[in-house]
Amino acid sequence: MSDERFIPYGTQSIDDSDLRAIEAVLRSDWLTQGPAIERFEQSLCALTNAGDAVATSNATAALHIACLALDVGPGDKVWTSANSFVASANCALYCGAQVDFVDIDPISFNMSVEALDAKLLDAASAGALPKVVIPVHFAGQSCDMKAIGALSKRFGFRVIEDASHAVGGRYLGSMVGACQYSDITVFSFHPVKIVTTAEGGAALTNDSELAGRLRLLRSHGITRDPDLMDSPSQGAWYYQQTTLGYNYRMTDMQAALGASQLTRIEAFLDRRHAIADTYDQLLDGLPIRRPVRLANGRSALHLYVIQVDDESRRKVVFDSLRADGIGVNVHYIPIHLQPYYRALGFREGQFPFAEAYYRRAISLPMHPKLSSDDVQRVVRSLETSLS
Ligand SMILES: *Cc1c(COP(=O)(O)O)cnc(C)c1O
Repeated sequence: MSDERFIPYGTQSIDDSDLRAIEAVLRSDWLTQGPAIERFEQSLCALTNAGDAVATSNATAALHIACLALDVGPGDKVWTSANSFVASANCALYCGAQVDFVDIDPISFNMSVEALDAKLLDAASAGALPKVVIPVHFAGQSCDMKAIGALSKRFGFRVIEDASHAVGGRYLGSMVGACQYSDITVFSFHPVKIVTTAEGGAALTNDSELAGRLRLLRSHGITRDPDLMDSPSQGAWYYQQTTLGYNYRMTDMQAALGASQLTRIEAFLDRRHAIADTYDQLLDGLPIRRPVRLANGRSALHLYVIQVDDESRRKVVFDSLRADGIGVNVHYIPIHLQPYYRALGFREGQFPFAEAYYRRAISLPMHPKLSSDDVQRVVRSLETSLS
């Protein structure tokens, strides 16, 4: 280990205005799911133009209730990208559904529309179409949602966008989260993501009925709204449990932090793009492939993933960077290769592009607190490790 400061691959950026926002909640009457939640949800709607936003304890919880709100249950099939965090698939298993994966596009590393199309045709003839498909906006870059939306109409499945990486991103002139081609979009506010609430997530939708279900599922399946009860209210204390829900609420402290962070989202994204520009420039000519920023939108640039040309050297390069205090990481080990998923019957070779991508991938540090000196240090260390 060098004696220089450790540079993480991702980390939060908290300022004094964030601290003041949290303190104001702590000094107020509400600590959990009060007025700050409503303000945060309104901020998310204002950012994305979605009709409704439902803040949750984390994105995994939001993915779970998104599946439940779309009636995913035993006997249903849910497909997601092989190149994602396990939560993108686990949410369907929580509902008792069956999970399958779609391979990735080798340029964007997002779910391949061609692979999805081919798999849907096969599934249609086998009578085994998915109820829900969960595209994941890998590294902050939107999937080809227009094409996926067209396939959803043709084959009759619902769409949940896992936009955990893509808060603040754009696609074809609208914000990620606008749900133009999907039923629900899920955001994560984990500290390494674009904006943070410590732990936190949200489900966004334009369908007010879905939003109502998401709200019920977030809080025990309990309602205090007389319109949603099966008999007249017995008094001001009265509530009814109308479905089996969970405690997936976010606290008001977290929501206040999130709303405060959202006021700086453009600056965060600008900084991420400036860092990516510098990396692109300085890494030119090295035996690696740099990530591609597509012209159909604006990536939120959660990750900056390079591909080492010589896959047999990936581990050496990775270890060398780590030994230099550079907090590189790998996103993602293909989900189907996890022991839990192998035990469900998945095996190596099923999603070859996700597997080949994984063998070469290294995520370099990418977050708004990286200084120019940090970026230079990462690049020098990478150059040394590759020489
Ligand atoms: C981080 C992440 C999640 C889970 O988010 P949490 O808020 O930690 O539950 C889900 N999907 C993807 C793609 C992620 O990166």
